[in-house]
Amino acid sequence: MKFPALFLSHGAPTLAMANNAFTHSWAEIAVVLGRPESILVVSAHWDTPFPAVTAARRLETIHDFGGFPEALYRMRYEPPGAPALASRVGELLSAIGQAPAVDPDRGIDHGGWVPLRWMYPDADIPVTQLSIQSELGARHHLEIGRALAPLRDEGVLVIGSGGIVHNLGELDWEPGERAPMPWAAAFAEWMADKAAQGADDELADYRSHAPNAERAHPTEDHLVPFFVALGAGGAPSRRMNLGFDMGSLGMDCYAFGG
Ligand code: ZN
Repeated sequence: MKFPALFLSHGAPTLAMANNAFTHSWAEIAVVLGRPESILVVSAHWDTPFPAVTAARRLETIHDFGGFPEALYRMRYEPPGAPALASRVGELLSAIGQAPAVDPDRGIDHGGWVPLRWMYPDADIPVTQLSIQSELGARHHLEIGRALAPLRDEGVLVIGSGGIVHNLGELDWEPGERAPMPWAAAFAEWMADKAAQGADDELADYRSHAPNAERAHPTEDHLVPFFVALGAGGAPSRRMNLGFDMGSLGMDCYAFGG
């Protein structure tokens, strides 16, 4: 079975505990896709100078956030690791001169476990994680994604996990519904238009072309996973328009390649 490559905007860590439209959408995506043999997560929250992959036999839950309710720190999502997938990732990336370091211990960060807990709540599908290199920008991650494309024929669900708009200084913390901030919406719509056109080159140059790119992503860590998914899946793309949390935290998800 061939899976699309996904980009998920994982939002705030508290979504791990929230029964809402965002988390229901993640659950729905998994229902539609079905069950992969294994999952490769490329999360904004594992950022290293050179690629690294985890080969742990069981992934421990990493609570890599501060200042949230105690219950969130007690949550566990500990799937079996996928050392065989980790070595396959190593093979594919070696072919483009990006052989990853193998981390024997690294667990799963909240960019992975928060959405996966809603998608595959039993935590019984083997998972591995590949790190990002946010300093190397979009094109590097597009190449990484393209190199990983064969995994889609091998029963692997490739998930890039980040945020389509992510500027923590621009979040509106007041409770309740609010309209999306126009600058954030303009950026998300530009990304959606270019993805629909299959304009990979323009997307990779988003920092020069997209409206409000610097404001939408002061750093690139939450957008580069989008490019891994785009590279791995290619056209056609489908956007799940999930709008914004806290006025500017972009929540869109994409499926690339079917
Ligand atoms: Zn995040």
